[in-house]
Amino acid sequence: MNLKQRILVTGGAGFLGSQLCEILVARGDDVICVDNFFTSQKVNVAHLLDKPNFELIRHDVIVPIWLEVDQIYNLACPASPGHYQFNPIKTIKTSVMGAINVLGLAKRCDARVLQASTSEVYGDPEVHPQTEDYRGSVNPIGPRACYDEGKRAAETLFMEYHRMNDVDIRIVRIFNTYGPRMHPFDGRVVSNFIRQALANQPLTLFGDGSQTRSFCYRDDLLTAMIRMMENESGFIGPVNIGNPEEYTIRQLAELVIELTGSTSEIIETELPEDDPVRRQPDITLAKERLQWEPRVDLREGLQKTIDWFKTIDLADYRPPTPNLPESV
Ligand code: NAD
Ligand code: UDP
Repeated sequence: MNLKQRILVTGGAGFLGSQLCEILVARGDDVICVDNFFTSQKVNVAHLLDKPNFELIRHDVIVPIWLEVDQIYNLACPASPGHYQFNPIKTIKTSVMGAINVLGLAKRCDARVLQASTSEVYGDPEVHPQTEDYRGSVNPIGPRACYDEGKRAAETLFMEYHRMNDVDIRIVRIFNTYGPRMHPFDGRVVSNFIRQALANQPLTLFGDGSQTRSFCYRDDLLTAMIRMMENESGFIGPVNIGNPEEYTIRQLAELVIELTGSTSEIIETELPEDDPVRRQPDITLAKERLQWEPRVDLREGLQKTIDWFKTIDLADYRPPTPNLPESV
């Protein structure tokens, strides 16, 4: 008998979460999406609402939730610098208390739980490309710390629930990922550049654009994430998931202008504090343990993303829900 898995996706209405829900619903799983819509909106999952195997719950993961599930993908957390710095105290609460709550749920239900961790655990890295055994260089009191340290603490919690309570965990470290359904006002470089280019407005290069990132297309990332969740070899991670093709931010700006046919110019503005200088995943482990590597190159992935940006009405998207430190 092939029983459906009951799968909880926290942050399931977001950029990555909504596509993950779509994939899981399409293959017949029983999917529960939990989200507080801090950095997303219902439009991302509206097309799933009438499916009998999809359920949407408005809920904040800093509060425990009582559900019966077999698997949990823990994606709830604002992900772009602009979003996670909007309310840094709430960001670290989401990472830490959210982790405690999903781990408690996994322990009670004997469920498998996957943590969406991040390349930010490596901070501004001295090791290049970054391997999973590199311990990172994070400024614990800087503007990115609410996210970086929150995600590091979450990894610690996952490992301790695994060691102490035998909870079945998976940890993936996600490197910069882009694609359709990114929040157009999340302030990330891909969404900013595409939005600016389509409006023929200047592309805002922070600093001189010599800093690098390695960009992974959404669908490649989700293939790896699902493969990690379903891996039965005893491999729990952490494992880097990303596309190792490294680009300077200036190269990215030039490519976006080319692909959109935009008349935008490129302007240099101030570089944010603690902005990592270089970032590139070493994906040897993912190749070996998950038989995975990305298939979509930057040009192809950007074209798909640009095509999606052309279909949306920016008026449908709002910045994060005001949620000031006093109110949490
Ligand atoms: P996103 O902002 O689109 O999705 C996050 C979702 O979590 C949103 O729907 C948001 O409303 C929800 N959320 C935030 N706080 C919550 C809370 N307290 N309770 C319930 N829901 C809450 O971002 P994304 O890019 O889809 O990222 C998903 C996950 O992947 C995040 O955990 C992020 O840290 C991780 N990640 C993403 C990237 C990337 O490049 N996209 C890179 C590294 C890690
Ligand atoms: N960046 C930029 N212009 C923008 C937004 C971002 O030059 O309009 C730069 C940013 O300084 C960083 C890189 O692009 O060096 C990636 O930024 P993003 O916010 O997408 O992700 P992260 O810094 O978390 O990797």
